[in-house]
Amino acid sequence: MAAHPLGCTCFIIPSKMLRKLAEQTSDQQERHCLLDTAELSAHLRGQRSIAPMTLGIAAATGEKRRTVYDAQNKSKLPGKLVREEDSKPSADKAVNQAYDGAGATYDFYREILQRNSIDNKGLRIDSTVHYQNKFNNAFWNGQQMVYGDGDGKLFMGFTGAVDVIAHELTHGVTQYAVPGGLVYEGQSGALNESISDVFGSVVKQWTLKQSAEQADWLIGAGIMAPSVGKALRSMADPGNQALTWSGDDQPKTMAGYVENGDVHTNSGIPNHAFYAAAIALKGNAWEKAAPIWYKSLSLLTPNATFADMAKATAQAASLLYGADSAEQHAVQAAWKVVGVS
Ligand SMILES: [Zn+2]
Repeated sequence: MAAHPLGCTCFIIPSKMLRKLAEQTSDQQERHCLLDTAELSAHLRGQRSIAPMTLGIAAATGEKRRTVYDAQNKSKLPGKLVREEDSKPSADKAVNQAYDGAGATYDFYREILQRNSIDNKGLRIDSTVHYQNKFNNAFWNGQQMVYGDGDGKLFMGFTGAVDVIAHELTHGVTQYAVPGGLVYEGQSGALNESISDVFGSVVKQWTLKQSAEQADWLIGAGIMAPSVGKALRSMADPGNQALTWSGDDQPKTMAGYVENGDVHTNSGIPNHAFYAAAIALKGNAWEKAAPIWYKSLSLLTPNATFADMAKATAQAASLLYGADSAEQHAVQAAWKVVGVS
């Protein structure tokens, strides 16, 4: 049976970053810890999961439902239930951050894009915190969010960054909103990653009430120690290591496209196209650019290429603002900036 395109296990920290950090450290224990996380990440990614068809009974329209579990430093999911919708805040900061980040993401999709949760049918958003011991990653496993605590030396935890949470939950949105999902390899995989960065960044901008000009356009700022870097990626200037970290290998345009590159590498190209569109459209990225990108998801197919995405976003702009509109021209020009047409 062919690999099911739905439900990738998608990590915020790419395995290649963990391996690079392992090469750089002189601390034996730290190296083992990083390689273990990289290996487990690769292992889990191999277990392709299928979108939950029956998990979580659909809620009534508009109803937000979140649950947070505590894995108590073990691997078993989901773990012990520690917070539900409308229950009192926990004494555990990670629990509340996971709850609030899921809430901000739900609210953004609901209020700005009129989407009712991940599946548009009110799917309950489940999150597990304290996964394993000093686990240096966070991921969406096709059914729920899972957060490690980080080792406290290189990674400081993942629940504090709303863009990380929205990035991961958007992998869930993509698996439902793109008919058949987006295959997590090649250009469709890079698009899958980019779509998560786009909505991850826009949810953060919306939360902070920042215009496209004011936003930092960074992904993962605040999750790592200064010795590692400042962020995972920059959408404004992909591959600018001064803004991110020393292993950032993202191309900004097709001139730097990496053949058979990692999905987290070539995603720099569509990321920058979104940034260019948002800047050209002025104001807040959630007002025009994000709705255009969101509408394009339903126009994609599982093996969509960058050129398909350029076409879909131009079509979406036409559907929302009219053929030949200034918005459509801005979107087309943005893809030209990155060398896709
Ligand atoms: Zn991702």
